[in-house]
Amino acid sequence: MSQDNQNEQSNPAEHLNQTKVDHERVRFETKLLHFGGEVDAATGASSVPLYQASTFHHEDIFNPPQHDYSRSGNPTRQVLEDYIALLEGGVQGFAYASGMAAISSTFMMLSAGDHIIVTEDVYGGTYRLLTSILNRMGIECTFVDMTDLDQVKGALQSNTKAVYIETPSNPTLKITDIKEVTSWSKDNGLLTILDNTFMTPYYQRPIEQGVDIVLHSATKFLGGHSDVLAGLAVARTPELGARLKQLQNGLGTVLGVQDSWLLMRGMKTLGARMTYSEQSAAKLAAWLSGRKDIEAVYYPGLLNHPGREIHEKQCSGYGAVVSFDVGSGERAKQVLNAVKLPLVAVSLGAVESILSYPAMMSHAAMGEKVRHERGITDGLLRFSVGLEDIDDLIADLDQALGVDR
Ligand SMILES: *Cc1c(COP(=O)(O)O)cnc(C)c1O
Repeated sequence: MSQDNQNEQSNPAEHLNQTKVDHERVRFETKLLHFGGEVDAATGASSVPLYQASTFHHEDIFNPPQHDYSRSGNPTRQVLEDYIALLEGGVQGFAYASGMAAISSTFMMLSAGDHIIVTEDVYGGTYRLLTSILNRMGIECTFVDMTDLDQVKGALQSNTKAVYIETPSNPTLKITDIKEVTSWSKDNGLLTILDNTFMTPYYQRPIEQGVDIVLHSATKFLGGHSDVLAGLAVARTPELGARLKQLQNGLGTVLGVQDSWLLMRGMKTLGARMTYSEQSAAKLAAWLSGRKDIEAVYYPGLLNHPGREIHEKQCSGYGAVVSFDVGSGERAKQVLNAVKLPLVAVSLGAVESILSYPAMMSHAAMGEKVRHERGITDGLLRFSVGLEDIDDLIADLDQALGVDR
């Protein structure tokens, strides 16, 4: 069918993507606002129009329109896809119905018989995809501690095709040396894929460090308001872009028009939100570290965080997620029931703070033994710091924790 075959190589939505700004000359914060969709060339409107259409009229059958069917390409979604490509410094971006849609579509680059090396504390949904769906399709994986390059090297097989990184990892915020793993991966002809959800391109741009494909759950910091589910991918080269385009169109995992618009609305304030939340997260991590009744605090900005130096080499900030161990499952549940400000929920990266309980939420699918081995203890809580006043958040957590023993 023609709509499936056309636009395999995407055309930029030229009339929408006009900007007077030279992206080579401005800093990241400016690009967030002046990405190409800031003014609609046709009307001067201050936001990207919603092209709520599934198909496009062929005025001249010999000269088809730029977009012909919205699964293959939609002008509103296209602006978002160009926006994330600009922010990540890649050549082509893709928007999907969720982070998992972005991740699963990307894994479809592999074939039966292929093997992939994956960071052991990978996002729970990705773990589930690999161990209960892709395994049925003959795609094998080996989980390794990616903070240790020797383990990565040791997992290499003759059929290995890709390396999958998450740094900082969830929820214990372990740091992988992106350049080290990527250069080894390149030397062995492997594809490098990185889930950049926690840092966002505001703090970490993996493509600049050699990574081939960057993935996002845009549901988190990029969207930023707990009101849209979305995923994004960015390719480093046109060849990889063409492969992802074929998969996105062939699998039909695209993001809808309304959600594309909503996501762009959130992304414009990414810098301001990240900066504010990070300041608060640093304060929270320091406060927790000073308490005697907290077993461990995980935050890449803490002086005692293993991997802090590597993180600082590859990243310009520490982010807004702080994990901490209150000692037992019983106490964790007590805290979750006693807090008044944060949402007690799955997810992170929003304007409101979100407190989550990995053992029973994001990592519930993981067997208890594996979970404990990976530091996801029954007392571990993950705090995604939002935009509330940090002193209020600390006071709330203080009353929820009770007397410091
Ligand atoms: C939430 C999350 C995902 C999955 O994204 P969805 O939008 O929920 O499908 C993937 N990776 C990380 C690191 C996440 O936090």
